[in-house]
Amino acid sequence: MPITALLTIFLLIPLLLLFNAAGHLDPKLFGGLSAGTGAYCLMSMNLILAARPALLERWLGGLDKLYWVHKWTGAGAILLVLLHEQVDLEVKGQGASSGISELAADAAELIFWPLVILGLASLLKRLPRLSFEIPYAWWRLSHRAMGPIFAIAVFHQFFIKLPFDNSAMISAYLTWMGVAALAAFVWTQAAPYLQRRAYSVTSVTRADAATIVRLKAEGKPLKRRPGQFAMLSFARKGLGEPHPFTLSSDAAGEEVEFSIKPAGDFTQRLRDTVQEGDRAWLQGSYGRFSGAKPGQRQVWLAGGIGITPFLALADGLKPDDSADIDLVYCVRDRSEAVGLTRLEAAAARVPGLRLHLHISADEGRLDAEKLAAKVDPAGASLWFCGPAALRKSITKGLSSIGKSPKSVHFERFEFR
Ligand SMILES: Cc1cc2nc3c(=O)[nH]c(=O)nc-3n(C[C@H](O)[C@H](O)[C@H](O)COP(=O)(O)OP(=O)(O)OC[C@H]3O[C@@H](n4cnc5c(N)ncnc54)[C@H](O)[C@@H]3O)c2cc1C
Repeated sequence: MPITALLTIFLLIPLLLLFNAAGHLDPKLFGGLSAGTGAYCLMSMNLILAARPALLERWLGGLDKLYWVHKWTGAGAILLVLLHEQVDLEVKGQGASSGISELAADAAELIFWPLVILGLASLLKRLPRLSFEIPYAWWRLSHRAMGPIFAIAVFHQFFIKLPFDNSAMISAYLTWMGVAALAAFVWTQAAPYLQRRAYSVTSVTRADAATIVRLKAEGKPLKRRPGQFAMLSFARKGLGEPHPFTLSSDAAGEEVEFSIKPAGDFTQRLRDTVQEGDRAWLQGSYGRFSGAKPGQRQVWLAGGIGITPFLALADGLKPDDSADIDLVYCVRDRSEAVGLTRLEAAAARVPGLRLHLHISADEGRLDAEKLAAKVDPAGASLWFCGPAALRKSITKGLSSIGKSPKSVHFERFEFR
């Protein structure tokens, strides 16, 4: 429903306005104009979503859903740009002077290939058939380039000669939409600096499977709920790009904690270089992985470092909570079990929290049968954090053995 409403505002209304102004044109020309208008509108929507407006995040049901819509509006825009380019738009109209109109047409030619190539690059994670994964930094760059490219698209739509009166409602609608999208882009670039909060590192523990970093706010702390994540960066060379990490500590404490698995450049450099006293920056908090509703029977399933939201949620449970939770923590071996002592303490403290450790080196890969032998998922609410492949195989397997949970909660975060 929210997606339909957004598509109505950003696509249907402009196309209806275009029809009102240019519906009399021959179908090929009208089709080309519609494709161009659609591409422009979807790009506007895409840039506005990228600014993560809190209202839209709430409305769409979370940041993960917002990113999903953002991604597919980008894909739709590229498709429509390709269609727009197929139609020779030799139009006669009463737009701006021919000099500037020609410049607007040239500008569109100029951005066509960069838009298509960078657009495709930002949709792909890995090159088809090759094992080469496009580095995240390149992907970020391709995303950043979209702002200037879109600014040229706004110039193009504003000054190009159109086969209808420039004072038509569609022209104003598109111009304002473009201005809003450009403002959103500027905000997206500035927000990490304007919204971030300064913290300092109070301790760094290099555990076997993760680096545990604790931070204290230098000023106003971040508002946060257990299960949420934040964008973390450090005032250190090579650690300035914000990366998402779940807060693995309870929201009540003065300090915040992150448990970070060394997975690549940033996370390994963080492990190697971050020291007590370093300055860090946090932006957020985001996400709706809220876990337990008192009285509801729940299964929490964590795969590896996916334990982090459950660490925060378990910390937040009180002995007299009417919790009824089975936490299944799936790791390769005991040394991979980040925060195990804390979870055992939480299970001892809260009668309704039961901890089940699944060690795959001893018990084999966790599957639906093994899960159902530990806990009864049928009719419970399943909260999952970990590799998507594990989630898919477990939910599929549970359904095939007739033990489907009542509901499945997870966050589908695809930052690209
Ligand atoms: C919502 C969320 C919560 C997370 N919580 C945790 C956690 O609590 N503990 C933990 O260890 N890991 C967590 N991660 C994963 C963590 O963000 C990545 O492992 C980390 O960003 C990898 O960065 P890298 O440069 O070391 O590795 P790389 O090998 O460069 O990247 C590995 C993958 O991480 C993603 N990535 C890289 N840089 C960024 C970036 N700046 N922003 C977004 N994604 C990026 C890319 O998809 C990339 O393919 C979380 C991820 C998300 C989306």
